[in-house]
Amino acid sequence: MNLVVMKFGGTSVEDPAAIHRTAAIVAGRVAMGKSPVVVVSALAKVTDQLLRAAAAASQGDRMGALAISSRLRSRHRDTAAGLLKDTAGCAELGKLIDEKFDGLDEILRGLSAIRELTPRISDLIVSHGERISSRIVAAAFKERGVDAAHADAREIIITDSEFQKAAPQSDIIEKRAAEKLLPLLRDGKVPVMGGFIASNEAGLTTTLGRGGSDYTGALVGGALNAETIEIWTDVDGIMTADPRACPDALRVKVISFEEAAELAYFGAKVLHPATILPAVKKNIPVQVLNSRNPSNEGTRIISLAPHCRSPFKSIAVKKKLSIIDVVASRMLMTHGYLSEIFAIFDKHKCPVDMVSTSEVSVSLTVDSNASLPAISADLGKLADVKYEGKKALVCMVGEDIRGQNGIAAQVFNAIRHINVRMISQGASEINMSFMIEEDDADEAVRSLHAAFFKDPDPEVFDVEARKPLSVISGQ
Ligand code: ADP
Ligand code: ASP
Ligand code: MG
Repeated sequence: MNLVVMKFGGTSVEDPAAIHRTAAIVAGRVAMGKSPVVVVSALAKVTDQLLRAAAAASQGDRMGALAISSRLRSRHRDTAAGLLKDTAGCAELGKLIDEKFDGLDEILRGLSAIRELTPRISDLIVSHGERISSRIVAAAFKERGVDAAHADAREIIITDSEFQKAAPQSDIIEKRAAEKLLPLLRDGKVPVMGGFIASNEAGLTTTLGRGGSDYTGALVGGALNAETIEIWTDVDGIMTADPRACPDALRVKVISFEEAAELAYFGAKVLHPATILPAVKKNIPVQVLNSRNPSNEGTRIISLAPHCRSPFKSIAVKKKLSIIDVVASRMLMTHGYLSEIFAIFDKHKCPVDMVSTSEVSVSLTVDSNASLPAISADLGKLADVKYEGKKALVCMVGEDIRGQNGIAAQVFNAIRHINVRMISQGASEINMSFMIEEDDADEAVRSLHAAFFKDPDPEVFDVEARKPLSVISGQ
């Protein structure tokens, strides 16, 4: 069986036209003799709206929460009606959508009475996005001649009970994927399941964290030893920078697992940071592709990328960070001091992105989050503490920076007009990161891009796509 996992993000299923394109892409793979397993996100922006409904309900705004839910119900019903001409199938799907939204409304009413939004309830609420999108997509596929069968992701992706960022249990997932998906595949069916959602062993709904549908795709691919994991999104692949911040970003044709993981971790939203793990474990290539431009070859993520003439492959930016300065009169290097500091971050389950120390101070960067005041209060028992938000981490990634002299000078020369707060080059030696004000981030990326991608290696970057631009500007 030439098994391929195809994950489609929110924009690839956002409306009937997008779902049409997605169905055609999957039908194309079937025609090539492949056996796809399809993983879909919620329709674009639905997860954000469900979270908004949950927040409104938890503040006692029952009407506000139900109004959001009602708009979502109409959107899903209209999408289904735009896809299914067959009246019986459409009525059945409409009924199913109503049942799911009736259930959601009940939860929102209960929440507005209790006014306590726990991570567990939040997961239950947001799970509706993928639970419903996967049903609509499966029905739409059938209508278009793709023999789809819906599979409930919560019966396959089993996690621990860390709601909102649950950790998958790969042994059980492997077993469940074989039990639930292989029989469908053997029957020639195309399983369609929601990404992002999962359940713990007790059957309670969990999620894999924002953007987690990529992770679901990779987990299923790993569990079934797929030949490829395809991540279908709204850009041509992994680009040399976020095209929203840097319009002349180029497509990276091929990149290593290590580089892609680093980029994803440091904010390139195109991939969920954990996506690479299951693929690396089984050495399954990952392909990032554009559902709006399916003939483009996208980006191939493989274990060993070819040598590249340019030191960097891409620039990632992580925004909404805070910097915490811990200043002690007591000597920093005192045995156990750093471990005391880290124990506090551990206690608050707060991951630290970057650390830098001097004789009397430690600076750390973390995601700006609600526990910062509590973390700061705990750190305050050890030393003087101050924290500042609105920071961004810029991360330049490329395997070919290893052993090259003068790279740091070139990087900081390119952004000499920008104030740099912290610098780090990890032991992995494939990234160079620094922290700046969030407001400077887009400008920094454009300056770095101009400096490092003016003569891109055609073996690694899609330089062809750049040609029309230079023709237009007459260069
Ligand atoms: P999906 O809904 O398909 O999962 P996402 O919005 O999560 O899509 O990710 C795709 C987006 O990631 C792109 O629209 C782009 O703006 C952003 N992005 C950030 N960094 C990069 C990068 N280096 N290459 C490509 N896209 C990037
Ligand atoms: N729908 C979820 C989110 O928006 C998961 C995903 O799209 O990957 O975060
Ligand atoms: Mg995504």
